Amino acid sequence: MILPILSLVVPCYNEEDVLKNTIERLLEVLNELEQKEKISSKSFLFLVDDGSKDKTFQIICDLHSQYPQKVKAISFIKNFGNQKAILAGLLELKKFDFDCCITIDADLQQDENKIEEFIEKYNEGHELVYGVKNERNDDSFLKKICAIGFYKLMNVLGAKTCPNHSEYRLVSKRLVNILNEYGEHNIFLRGIFQEMGNNPAIVYYDVKKRMAGVSKFSLFDLFSLAVQGITSFSTVPLRLVTFTGILISFFAFLLGMSAVFEKIFNLSVPGWATIVAAVSFIGGIQILSIGIIGEYLGQIFTEVKSRPRYIIDKELN
Ligand code: UDP
Ligand code: MG
Repeated sequence: MILPILSLVVPCYNEEDVLKNTIERLLEVLNELEQKEKISSKSFLFLVDDGSKDKTFQIICDLHSQYPQKVKAISFIKNFGNQKAILAGLLELKKFDFDCCITIDADLQQDENKIEEFIEKYNEGHELVYGVKNERNDDSFLKKICAIGFYKLMNVLGAKTCPNHSEYRLVSKRLVNILNEYGEHNIFLRGIFQEMGNNPAIVYYDVKKRMAGVSKFSLFDLFSLAVQGITSFSTVPLRLVTFTGILISFFAFLLGMSAVFEKIFNLSVPGWATIVAAVSFIGGIQILSIGIIGEYLGQIFTEVKSRPRYIIDKELN
């Protein structure tokens, strides 16, 4: 049997506190799998430094000179965000010989001991394997609630994703080539892989605590990712705006009729509170609707400019 060449893709942003440890641990994992003859000895790590401002890239350079065959990397000229870092990590693999890749976070919160299970699923013929969290134990209460709400909302709006799956996944080379054809700027990888992956397999894992450093994802980032996910995969919100408009117009018509009726029969009474309530309700709906349309307009704006999705500064091959 020909052993698959595995590439572990790791996005890194200001990870100086954990990175050395992470790289050494992942090299150990590759070594174990090579010894067990599960993967080819040509397997390697591919790190993407997402414009870090700390010593992240220095650490990567040091480890690259120590293990030139095993540690490869690129760095961005500035911070482009986690989705673009992972995207680049996958697309730039074309320079190398590989059969499949697994994306994993630099803080190793995703259990690296499960990589073997991913490879087993790949060897069984799965081109896409999702890592799914058993429990979101390390996240704050607010983050947990937001994440659950996000999955529910996404699914209701028609943008299907796998619950409790983040970016820990195995992808075959063929799917990476298909990803290359998705030219969009507002990239939402979870949605894209869900769309292209036939028959994804699942590996369950426990979330570990961050070894050191802090989360690079604020609640605002999470909110942005949610909006990006929804607007890049669903036009249902725009449809909802239209329906709300129709519904409100219908009630406005009834209100108008009743006003005419009251006028004719001289039943008019001061209706200050009703008017204020109606005006502010409709005002709120209008602003929300403009906001939703604006989100889509913003997406079109960035897509239309079609600037590069990321800019590479240095490469360590
Ligand atoms: N990350 C990145 N660019 C960013 C933010 C984060 O490449 O702008 C990386 C980060 O280094 C880590 C992964 O994305 O490898 C997930 O980030 P983090 O662990 O901070 O998120 P959390 O686990 O708290 O959701
Ligand atoms: Mg993390």
